[in-house]
Amino acid sequence: MRFIIETYGCQMNVADSELVSSILISAGHSPVTDIDDAQVIIFNTCSVRDHAEQRVLGRIANEKHRKSSNPEIKIGVIGCMAQRMGKRLIEIEPGIDFVVGVDQYQHLPHILEDAESCAEDALQMDKTQVYPNVMPFRQDKNCGFVTVMRGCNNFCSYCIVPYVRGRERSRPVNDIYEEAKSASEAGLHDITLLGQNVNSYQFDGYRFPDLLRKLNNIESLWRLRFVTSHPKDLSDELISVMAECSKVCEHIHLPLQAGDDQLLKKMNRSYGVDHYLGLIDKLRAAIPGIAITTDLMVGFPSETEAQFENTLRVMEAIRFDYAFCFKYSEREGTAAASYEDQVPEEVRLRRLQAMICLQRKITLEKFRGQIGKTVAVYVENFSRRSDDMVSGKTRDFKIAVLSGGADKIGGLSKAKVIDATAGTLICE
Ligand code: SF4
Repeated sequence: MRFIIETYGCQMNVADSELVSSILISAGHSPVTDIDDAQVIIFNTCSVRDHAEQRVLGRIANEKHRKSSNPEIKIGVIGCMAQRMGKRLIEIEPGIDFVVGVDQYQHLPHILEDAESCAEDALQMDKTQVYPNVMPFRQDKNCGFVTVMRGCNNFCSYCIVPYVRGRERSRPVNDIYEEAKSASEAGLHDITLLGQNVNSYQFDGYRFPDLLRKLNNIESLWRLRFVTSHPKDLSDELISVMAECSKVCEHIHLPLQAGDDQLLKKMNRSYGVDHYLGLIDKLRAAIPGIAITTDLMVGFPSETEAQFENTLRVMEAIRFDYAFCFKYSEREGTAAASYEDQVPEEVRLRRLQAMICLQRKITLEKFRGQIGKTVAVYVENFSRRSDDMVSGKTRDFKIAVLSGGADKIGGLSKAKVIDATAGTLICE
């Protein structure tokens, strides 16, 4: 059958869609890029915010009309929302034919033949599942993800992930090495190691710094990155390995969430502001010019104006290169959803706007600070704005555009930064 996957949420879902594509292709099905050509429409969903779930339900409602002209068309839901809601989803939206949880994608080929055949198994959680022997089907041939671990043990009080993705388990080091080696030999020279809490990786005595050292030896690999790191697992050893391994890029995504100790405690984040600031000092001392990006949340239950301002002060002190700013969204079943002192929606919105405004100013200053410098751009594609321009990334994870054509794509270009916006370096 011809299938299409529409992916929502984080990079883990992007990687899982590649995994699911591979499973379906191995069973004889074919991916298509135009939904009009698809016989199977799969939504790979996110549960982190209520808004993300409502969006998917809206999309399914929009697409189910296709079944009246062609009753053979199947609509499926996979990912975190499938795991969280299970068959309730089919009650809410009867246009859905099948629902498969995050640990059961190997059942998908059978489910396409007969959605009822393994409906129960399709939602089981499997605390050992790491999808061994499945080589993801990658659309992007220049850069992409290699999953190193799945699940999370941290139970941040606002987060649904440990409930829908289960506990941490790491893939065997040799499987990761072989996947990274063959992918980079096939042209994927910029690889991001992926996990919900990547720096807590451990397999048979191998920890995350050991894994980075091992992968750094792959000749065909040019750049190595990783997301997402938890501040509690960012060891001194990991920082020195980042500094010592030439392929590990000068960038870290290190979610702060809030710049107030009391809030961090209520969030169950296991670190305080001083610890986080100490990590930033160590990173900047060991890796000059390192770009630091983060996730920040406003409107967590009980957040006062003073606590919110503490977060703004920490943002000003650290000056992140970029921050993903969110307003807190209650998730049924998490500890924080039962807290009584929820912050009113209009206050959350006002704080979010103030936070975004501050970060945009800092990001623009940071990007403009690059003007005049020479950067190495790994060119990934044509620029969206012009066919005479190409775009790619610097080692410190900034998007850069420069003049050029197809011959530049997939290669490294040295370029001088001549201008910048709060999201792009303009180079020549
Ligand atoms: S570390 Fe916290 S925020 Fe991240 S996935 Fe785990 S529980 Fe969620």
